[in-house]
Amino acid sequence: MTKEYAALYVVPTPLGNLADLSRRAAEILCGVPWVAAEDTRHSGVLLKSIGATARLLPAHRHNEQAAAARIIDRLQAGKAVALIADAGTPGISDPGARIVAAARAAGCRVVPLPGPCAAVTALSAAGLLDEHFLFYGFLPAKAGQRRQALAGLRRESAALVFYEAPHRLLATVADLAAVLGERTLVIARELTKLFESIHSGPLGAALAWLQADPDRQRGEFVLIVSGALPEADDDQGERVLKLLLAEGLPVKQAARLAAAISGVAKNALYDRALALKS
Ligand code: SAM
Repeated sequence: MTKEYAALYVVPTPLGNLADLSRRAAEILCGVPWVAAEDTRHSGVLLKSIGATARLLPAHRHNEQAAAARIIDRLQAGKAVALIADAGTPGISDPGARIVAAARAAGCRVVPLPGPCAAVTALSAAGLLDEHFLFYGFLPAKAGQRRQALAGLRRESAALVFYEAPHRLLATVADLAAVLGERTLVIARELTKLFESIHSGPLGAALAWLQADPDRQRGEFVLIVSGALPEADDDQGERVLKLLLAEGLPVKQAARLAAAISGVAKNALYDRALALKS
């Protein structure tokens, strides 16, 4: 790799299937003299499998600032450095953001490569029709904090994307159901691996589904919850109902139209219309 290519390359690596390493990613990893990796032993196996001979620099969450300084020294000396995580895209629920920020602040070129990411892989097969999604990553490990975080997301209309570890899966799914109410939950397990499975169903039934077979609780998980439906607007319902009744519409028709416009339950508006009439 020549000097004009000196840059920090942010390189996604496979989630579990080695064939998902892109040709460009392999070229970069084989061409750079330095690879900054979260776990150098784990990444050493990947590099060896593609014949890469780069030297490894440890860059994990406990040394990210110091690693950034070491990486910038090399970039400023005209060397190219690749940044990788254990699996997937660096900086996505993984170390990397501080290193990228420091490199950019030092005026170094940062070159991102597209590639594997568990959230995007799960979303692509989720089949949810939500127009938007919100990537949350890991919820807090402590139950109280987790429920509080979920309460803050209750009205979010975008689909919610979570990462979860197997030992917290049941507790998290129970909290999702308790706090978010009836939605669709997609459980994407072991993506790109031998036991890949993608289950979709009512959030309220998910805990029982997982408990029915311990194998469903093993491996790595992305959880996607469909977004909140718009809240019914009681005031608007009442306003529209009164207008329609004043225009002389029959009670039943006024209640039906007001319900369709405001999202308030038709029966409630029908009872209210009867009360207003009397
Ligand atoms: N940087 C990674 C990415 O781009 O997706 C995420 C790393 S994060 C430390 C690890 C979490 O990602 C796991 O706990 C799991 O929630 C999710 N994950 C990673 N690989 C996965 C896979 N093969 N199937 C399902 N989820 C996976």
